[in-house]
Amino acid sequence: MDYPSDYLIFGGHFDLAMDLLDRRERGARQVFSTIYEPDFRAGRVSGIVSALFLHDHFLPEMALRKALDQIAVLHEEIEESEGRLVLCTSTQDILEAGRQGRFAVVLSFEGVEPLMGDLRLLRVFHALGVRGVGLTWSRRNEAADGSSFHPTGIGREGGLSPFGVKLVEEAERLKMFIDVSHINDPGFWDVMEIAEGPVIASHSNCRALCDHPRNLTDDQIRAIAERGGVIGMNALSPFVVLPTVKSRPDVSDLVDHVDHIVRLVGADFVGIGFDFDGSFEDYSGRGKAIEASDVLSGHKEIPLFVKELEQRGYSPKEIGKILGLNLMRVFEKTMG
Ligand SMILES: [Zn+2]
Repeated sequence: MDYPSDYLIFGGHFDLAMDLLDRRERGARQVFSTIYEPDFRAGRVSGIVSALFLHDHFLPEMALRKALDQIAVLHEEIEESEGRLVLCTSTQDILEAGRQGRFAVVLSFEGVEPLMGDLRLLRVFHALGVRGVGLTWSRRNEAADGSSFHPTGIGREGGLSPFGVKLVEEAERLKMFIDVSHINDPGFWDVMEIAEGPVIASHSNCRALCDHPRNLTDDQIRAIAERGGVIGMNALSPFVVLPTVKSRPDVSDLVDHVDHIVRLVGADFVGIGFDFDGSFEDYSGRGKAIEASDVLSGHKEIPLFVKELEQRGYSPKEIGKILGLNLMRVFEKTMG
């Protein structure tokens, strides 16, 4: 499992802050250092985008507080890490952290429920270091409809709300990046009409290979590429191959999604957003409703993903772009 250590490996999506809060509320301390750091280091990961994710049962009135709690515990963990964990708000911060051997975290919404429909709060979260705006999780909020996992009993879905339109404009003005993973199709196309800069889908695969609403159509992939965005490959099994087709897809199935995007638009628009859930399963029950598992068992197995890319003839330059440099290009153009 050897590959050049000079790859900048940066994951576009992981629910770190949610899990830090869950575990610290149960009394755990130094969660990053004891549970996550060994896994990240084994996979030679430089950093990740941590989502601010809220479970349904916190909505609506606990959304803001839980998001703030997640940011607070990240700072507690940073203190306890003795310099090995750092919150980054610019591409320069990330590169600097890499040079110093610190693990870089960029914060992003995964659903804007914490704003509670108040656009002013976006500026507050920006001031707290949040740089990404994932407009929705897989549910409706004040900004848009998510691509629901169970689209029954929810009424007719729509595109961006007036608040959602203003939110995209304000986020770009504040130099925050927009993330369209989880949004439904009408919302996706509304974002593409309004956003001026690159847009990412931090953890979404290809619908042509796995026909799930969480994945992107070929037209959506082309639209993201046309404006210079990035699509992060998601390792959660039902988004790699439909469970009705194959219950336990593997890394080769995941790399089929890379191949598909590269054939459509080239290697400049693929990233990683593995969204590993394995470490949450012991208590959260999250994912069980969709019978999910990860096709790689954590970041430590990223070398298997790299090996599969090498075997399919990807050059070190292309692999470097996929593992992190494509995302850095978007970060430079958005948060700076
Ligand atoms: Zn997600």
